[in-house]
Amino acid sequence: MAKLMVYTGPTSESAPGTRTGGVPLVPEGFAWPSCATCEGPMQFLAQLELGPDRLLSIFMCQNDPGLCEEWDATAGGNHAYVFTSPTLTPATVPTTGVPLLEETCAVRIEEVGGADYDEARAVFGRQAEGGPRIVPGQLGGEPSWLQGDEQPSCETCGRPMSFAAQLEEGHNHRTAANYGGGSAYAFHCATCATGAFLWQQ
Ligand SMILES: [Zn+2]
Ligand SMILES: [Zn+2]
Repeated sequence: MAKLMVYTGPTSESAPGTRTGGVPLVPEGFAWPSCATCEGPMQFLAQLELGPDRLLSIFMCQNDPGLCEEWDATAGGNHAYVFTSPTLTPATVPTTGVPLLEETCAVRIEEVGGADYDEARAVFGRQAEGGPRIVPGQLGGEPSWLQGDEQPSCETCGRPMSFAAQLEEGHNHRTAANYGGGSAYAFHCATCATGAFLWQQ
């Protein structure tokens, strides 16, 4: 059994809840993250509802793809936030760099049987119009690592972080996130409300 994310079509760029692309909903005082390497603004990729007042928000540098260690959980080329404020509003989008994806997609969660995520995604893809590409990932469950296990530790408390989601690039090359053709993995620490993000190819 896996909780698959399934694209349900375009949505408003400031839609609440789980979606890919669009403008991130952020708490008051939020500062858009900059890349540690190129210092440009990161790109907003997705926001995922982990629970009530718990929104995981994922950013990654796309100013110099491949040159900013944007696949690494700690190198400063990406950033994952856990927002716990009940009041979130659309962020002010930077006017430089590549801060947004070209498409905002609504996502629903569907529980699908199977030994693991890969099997559930394949089973779902066989019966769905659009195939497995309309599944941009899974929420919770177990990560399906392409390389070795890279579970990160919380930067605040040092404990291993909980797996939050696996993300695929998207259903359309033109508007997709760039994980080098691989898969991305998001984690959070429930205690500290911290997030982490990385990808493998
Ligand atoms: Zn960069
Ligand atoms: Zn922690």
